[in-house]
Amino acid sequence: MIPLEEARAFVLSHCPPMGATELPPMLALGHVLAQGVTAHEPLPSFTNSAMDGYAIRAADTAHAPVRLQVVGALMAGDPPSTDAVQRGQALRIMTGAALPPGADSVCMIEDTHLEGDGTVVVERPVTYGANVREMGDDVLVGAELAPPGAEITPRHVALLVAAGVRSLRVFKRPRVGVLSTGDELVEGWGALAPGKIRNSNRPALLALVRQAGFEGVDLGTVGDDPDVIAEVLETAVGVCDAILTSRGVSVGDRDVVKAVLERLSNGAMRSMQVAIKPAKPFAFGVLSPRGIPTFGLPGNPASAMVAFELFARPGLLKMAGHTTVDRPLLRALARAPLARRSDGKVHFVWVVVRVNPEGVLELVPAGGQGAHQLRGMAASNALAVLPDGQGASAGEGVEVMLLEAAALTGGGDAPNIPTR
Ligand code: AMP
Ligand code: MG
Repeated sequence: MIPLEEARAFVLSHCPPMGATELPPMLALGHVLAQGVTAHEPLPSFTNSAMDGYAIRAADTAHAPVRLQVVGALMAGDPPSTDAVQRGQALRIMTGAALPPGADSVCMIEDTHLEGDGTVVVERPVTYGANVREMGDDVLVGAELAPPGAEITPRHVALLVAAGVRSLRVFKRPRVGVLSTGDELVEGWGALAPGKIRNSNRPALLALVRQAGFEGVDLGTVGDDPDVIAEVLETAVGVCDAILTSRGVSVGDRDVVKAVLERLSNGAMRSMQVAIKPAKPFAFGVLSPRGIPTFGLPGNPASAMVAFELFARPGLLKMAGHTTVDRPLLRALARAPLARRSDGKVHFVWVVVRVNPEGVLELVPAGGQGAHQLRGMAASNALAVLPDGQGASAGEGVEVMLLEAAALTGGGDAPNIPTR
């Protein structure tokens, strides 16, 4: 067995960032900036009103209530006023309209009332500069809008579009092929012939790829025939940037994927027994001729899922230019014991974490932990990381890898664990 960190280091060293491309901000969600972005326009681009109200001179209102003469009205989008607001005057102004010359402040509409004679009464003194959004108070020309390495969020999209940025230099994201192999696999909903099982890994891996932000390429399901597997993979290396296979990397009689991967990588494929549970058998290498990172995941559903989390997801994120490639690692208080035996492996245990009413992150095991078991896995929102040893007793702090961030929203009911 090799340590998890050694296996991960091997994988990550063969997943270099892909090339960069240009994208408009509105299409760049989730992409990583290959180059920082600098502002060429200030924000706001002109000084304007933050309120619906009246543009005034604050000094006029020092002894409010005071009556001012209304000299016009400006809506958002109107060309700026060329006439200055004089002493004793007020210009009706809506949020976002350019502040007229002469005015230094805006009195909000709620603090005024209109008289019938074309005057407005300002009911209380207005502070100098009140309700005015100064040109550049958010962004000055030359300011950094986003640093290299930033992952574009909807919040970046808002900023970049507002600042008139047309194009971003971002890393490309891998198209990820997913291939299932196994004579026992059946697709769809029909009755199962004896000895057959439904192929859950293919949709599950495609879902994981999509959740990580990447495009999945469904390479289908093939039996344990090395020639057919090789044929599919040879086609896949032409259209995919990375490939996931499931099953056939262990030591069984039908574990043929391993051999095929070795052949297609000119022997560079590494079959590993990683010191973890589940997901001990794992193969990784780059396929010729384009050097496509290829992850030979184990077949058991929980193993495939854990191997994706520990190897494939970080590798794919690295290819997409991310520098943070791991799920958040947090400490949670075990509410129930997480017992294990010492076996030289790190154990990954499906758990439900929540923030309890006291604000403490706590966990309970999510149920069945067998590599073939799916229900506890589905009920979980995190993986507890148990180093080699005897596990954790109730009340102990345990490291957890957070899979679903909603777990951190706190409060809520105690975790609801399925029972048989
Ligand atoms: P293997 O990793 O090839 O030894 O497979 C281990 C277990 O995973 C076997 O019980 C397989 O039937 C099961 N398995 C393999 N592929 C899939 C799949 N695509 N969906 C669900 N179970 C699978
Ligand atoms: Mg096996």
